[in-house]
Amino acid sequence: MQSLSDFAVLDSANDDPLSSMVRLLRQQLGLKSALISVGKGAHLISRALDGAPVSTALLLNSLTSSLNTTDSILTVTDAQSDARINRAALAESPSLRFIAACPLRAVEGELLGVLCLLHDEPYVLDAAQHASLLVVARFAAQFLEQEAQIARQAQELEALRDSERRMALAISGSGTGVWDRNVLSGEIYYSSGWKALLGYADHEIGNRIEESYTRVHPDDLAYVKATIADHLQHRTGEYEVEHRIRCKDGSYKWVCSRGKVVERNAAGESLRMVGTTTDITSKHELSEQSRKTATLLTDLTDEIPGMAFQFQRSADGDLRFTYVSAGSYELFGVTPEQLLSDPHALRSTIHPQDLAGYLHSFDSTTRDLTPWHYEYRVLIPGRGVGWRQGDARPKQMPDGSVLWHGFIADISPHKSIEAELQVFATTDSLTQLSNRRWFLVQLEAELNNVQRKAEHGAALLMLDLDHFKKINDQWGHTVGDQVLRHFAKLLRAQLRISDTAGRLGGEEFAVVLSNADTPKAAKFAERLQEELKSAPLIHDGQAIHMTVSVGIAAITPSDDKVEVSLSRSDIALYRAKRNGRDRIECYD
Ligand code: GH3
Ligand code: MG
Ligand code: MG
Repeated sequence: MQSLSDFAVLDSANDDPLSSMVRLLRQQLGLKSALISVGKGAHLISRALDGAPVSTALLLNSLTSSLNTTDSILTVTDAQSDARINRAALAESPSLRFIAACPLRAVEGELLGVLCLLHDEPYVLDAAQHASLLVVARFAAQFLEQEAQIARQAQELEALRDSERRMALAISGSGTGVWDRNVLSGEIYYSSGWKALLGYADHEIGNRIEESYTRVHPDDLAYVKATIADHLQHRTGEYEVEHRIRCKDGSYKWVCSRGKVVERNAAGESLRMVGTTTDITSKHELSEQSRKTATLLTDLTDEIPGMAFQFQRSADGDLRFTYVSAGSYELFGVTPEQLLSDPHALRSTIHPQDLAGYLHSFDSTTRDLTPWHYEYRVLIPGRGVGWRQGDARPKQMPDGSVLWHGFIADISPHKSIEAELQVFATTDSLTQLSNRRWFLVQLEAELNNVQRKAEHGAALLMLDLDHFKKINDQWGHTVGDQVLRHFAKLLRAQLRISDTAGRLGGEEFAVVLSNADTPKAAKFAERLQEELKSAPLIHDGQAIHMTVSVGIAAITPSDDKVEVSLSRSDIALYRAKRNGRDRIECYD
């Protein structure tokens, strides 16, 4: 206690109201000591003392449980003979006899401390003294409660300041400035961070709203003002607007301004508005860059003839186009929008004969993730048949979907040249029948058929115009050509779709009759001879008669090559010539 006094902790200030209270009380009652201890239970510390110093820690501890449950005064007339006071407490204060302890409670009932009166003689408080003690106790409790409240508020204030400091740090680090505008006076406060955003020091910028508008890019000003006006007139709950703003060095930055009215008067007029300004220049540059890239990509894919696309098959099997270039209309008569909403819109344009192959090719690339390549025909209403070539590469994505990037080209011109070349390479130009080379290819295919299918038969006819030399001699070579064409026409007229005729050279022809034996072939030859006789070529009003000799042989499975079949027909033809021409001979 002496040390506490020395260090001015105890009874430190004379103006401490608690000290005044205990002094008044002790003097009025004429007792040995009066004191106030604060805290609870074992943590009670002496806060104010008047009179003889006394150690009460153990004493009060022995009375704690009683103090905790009472609102009134606890009195011990003679501590030496009171069962509530334990030995240790008496040993600590051997001269102590009288104790009056009054709990100091907050309004809510919480125990804040204890007011004690102590004396070295047994003592009994009279009614007036009792009342005085209660009054002082009430004041002391009020004082302690206020003191605690002030301490709590100070703590809260410090926490608030901490949080403000953190907020300020976070804002200054995020490229964001804060402003606070008095709508009526037109004054605006800018945070240092706001000024720094535009490259200004604290004193370098005015605080008028008119001046702030001069910094907004002229092209953005009307839009910014309209957005703010909308908000001031209650049309929006808050506002957010992206615009350019001029910095100290004259350059422009893209910023995002957000704001909100935080105070209105009774008439609903805006009084105060606060908000933030965030530098979004880099974000803006990035989105400008990606917009340019997207435009370039679209221009490229739209200008190149053909259709570029991205196609997706999701993990659960849903199919959709995720990108289609403008070429889809040129190639399929279907717009990109139609395809994006319905991936099957292409299917109806595919030629029925190529659809199965098309679907099969798609199944393979989906199953094996191999590149897709398919050439197919399309049937476009009003435009007829065209050829398309599709190529795409599949990519397995982490989410289980598959993504194809591909291109479809119009290969119709290429295909028609190919077809022309095909005709050129296989047709005899004078008669339009198969040429020798192509006839032999077809003959070989027929021999394969005969060898593969036991029930399938075929006959080979060799035909040679009789005395053709004479026709040439009599009518000239050009008319001879016309005769050859005339013969070819009559021959073609006799053919079924499965039959094949070719010009082997000069005035020599050959025919393969599919599904036919030699008697059937002989019938065919007879009909041709009759036609030849009844329909001669008329030249300059004159009929040019001609006859043909025919040799027939069956194509048999044992023929190991086409030359074997050919030589048998040739032998039969030779016999027809030798036996007088205009005849049909079959090889036995
Ligand atoms: P044969 O009854 O024995 O077959 O007598 P042929 O005169 O028909 O037979 P030959 O082989 O002696 O003569 C065939 C003639 O066909 C000779 C040739 O000038 C003529 N010839 C071959 N190719 C052509 C052609 O492309 N145009 C014309 N006009 N004549 C051709
Ligand atoms: Mg000949
Ligand atoms: Mg001849």
